[in-house]
Amino acid sequence: MDWKAIIKPRDGWAVVPNLKDYERTRATFSWHQARQQLDGLPDGRGINIAHEAVDRHAAGARADHLALRWLGKRGEVRDFTYKEFARLTNRFANVLTTLGVGKGDRVFLLAGRIPELYVSALGTLKNRSVFCPMFSAFGPEPIRQRLGIGDGRVLVTTAALYKRKVADLRQSLPQLEHVLLIGTPEETNTVPGAHNFHALMAAANDQYEIQPTNPEDLALLHFTSGTTGKPKGAMHVHQAVVAHHATGTYALDFHPDDIFWCTADPGWVTGTSYGIIAPFTHGITSIVDEAEFDAERWYGILQQQKVSVWYTAPTAVRMMMKVGVEVVRKYDLRTLRFIASVGEPLNPEAVVWGQDAFGLPIHDNWWQTETGGIMIANYPAMDIRPGSMGRPLPGIKAGIVQRQQDGTFTVVTAPGIEGELALRPDWPSMFRGYLHEEERYRKCFADGWYLTGDLAKCDADGYFWFVGRADDVIKSSGHLIGPFEVESILMEHPAVAEVGVIGKPDPVAGEVVKAFVSLKQQYQPSDELHRELIGFARTRLGAVVAPKEIAFLANIPKTRSGKIMRRLLKARELGLPEGDTSTLEGEA
Ligand code: ATP
Ligand code: MG
Repeated sequence: MDWKAIIKPRDGWAVVPNLKDYERTRATFSWHQARQQLDGLPDGRGINIAHEAVDRHAAGARADHLALRWLGKRGEVRDFTYKEFARLTNRFANVLTTLGVGKGDRVFLLAGRIPELYVSALGTLKNRSVFCPMFSAFGPEPIRQRLGIGDGRVLVTTAALYKRKVADLRQSLPQLEHVLLIGTPEETNTVPGAHNFHALMAAANDQYEIQPTNPEDLALLHFTSGTTGKPKGAMHVHQAVVAHHATGTYALDFHPDDIFWCTADPGWVTGTSYGIIAPFTHGITSIVDEAEFDAERWYGILQQQKVSVWYTAPTAVRMMMKVGVEVVRKYDLRTLRFIASVGEPLNPEAVVWGQDAFGLPIHDNWWQTETGGIMIANYPAMDIRPGSMGRPLPGIKAGIVQRQQDGTFTVVTAPGIEGELALRPDWPSMFRGYLHEEERYRKCFADGWYLTGDLAKCDADGYFWFVGRADDVIKSSGHLIGPFEVESILMEHPAVAEVGVIGKPDPVAGEVVKAFVSLKQQYQPSDELHRELIGFARTRLGAVVAPKEIAFLANIPKTRSGKIMRRLLKARELGLPEGDTSTLEGEA
């Protein structure tokens, strides 16, 4: 923890942050009060995500405000106001009702970031069916698995994706009753047993009244990223929207005039909680880009769309760093006010790079599919300690716990001691179970804590520092080493673009640290660079923690949500079976 590197908040705010006084807000916050920021369904008929996200704005002062601007791969632009969005989502809810699909039924989505996906998501929630997004780049097997585990009754996808990935599976999915295909009639008419999405939408009524929705009714089924093993189906309920909204207020600092861009795909929880729900509940404008990462395209979008709040991921930041800061300088990004990142530890190097490139630090925050919303964050009005995930959100109680020999857990109170990151499970977007995996769910809880599976430490001022996933931590000569620490140091070397670090079994030390490094374009692997990197790490980390071995790889294996798959690096190193690779990037 290098205190010299602290980044202070800006002097003088053009827009005053929502969270100005952390201690005070924390002391006065309650979830009950956060719920009061939302409407609830009329006449006390419960709470429904889609009402908070769409209908209440469509019926109020924000009706003609831009809800979503969609940017197509080929330069197309489509705009949707809240009022238009309300009508479209009403139509989709009516489509489902007409098909006999109702409360609790699972509606799966397999599509790129196209407007129909957003309409289907919120229409599904209006109908009290369960929205289950899948990443469009999944291959047939991950699709079959998820539809199977999730008891998918409806699948909305494009004609092209269906033909390529689903048609051959249909026989093995007896519970899949309805397939709705996005595409021209020529594309869809030839597909047996499928409906044309647009034809159903055109025939549907654009008025719809959301039926009573219990706060505990199932709303979302999200599969985890599969970084550590087979993806789990985490179940979330309608009142999760209270947390989506509150975290939008505090962790993403939404203000009414914001133009927000969440770069995550709705195939992952970030792309749903923050790519769809949270910004809509605030009635602000969201940008959706259909295309994949391209540094110049992204800077162009930030400039042209006047994005003010931007939520992205470490993998994207590292790719931007690889392209270099000179490219950013060509763009006028003065409308940007706040940048946040999630999904993996954000190396201190990346936080500082943001400051140089955008004149703004990148604010790391931490959460999981299971938590449904942001739990620990760096806020605009607070000092940033680069490398720290920040401090718990108002309403979130986090602790570092250690398992004792008798199986109970004690809370670590001394600063800087590593243990498992645990949370008191009492916020609205907490998951309610892993579908069909009761035992696994039960094992996540002990002594009133939810155990996250991540190791962390907390400093004297309440900032949390990520150490590593419990599965990834390396035990070497009696020391516990978090891969993040080693990776962050190697990232500081100018030749290094990405790093994944594992523990390699060793007869003497138990495990030794091995690093897999991918180099920036202008560098080539060589014995000399190898020696230099080993020396560089040793000077900074000491002989025990520094890698004993470094291997150069053209690409580090990652999940489709951009997370380094250390378990795969390890399996490959040891010649062991690779396990579940359904979410591996490039496997489709
Ligand atoms: P699986 O549970 O299937 O192995 P996963 O844990 O990667 O996959 P997600 O729920 O998408 O699935 O990711 C949450 C995890 O990502 C966290 O538990 C943590 O390990 C990591 N993570 C997310 N944000 C951060 C962050 N800011 N710093 C460090 N780690 C983070
Ligand atoms: Mg996980």
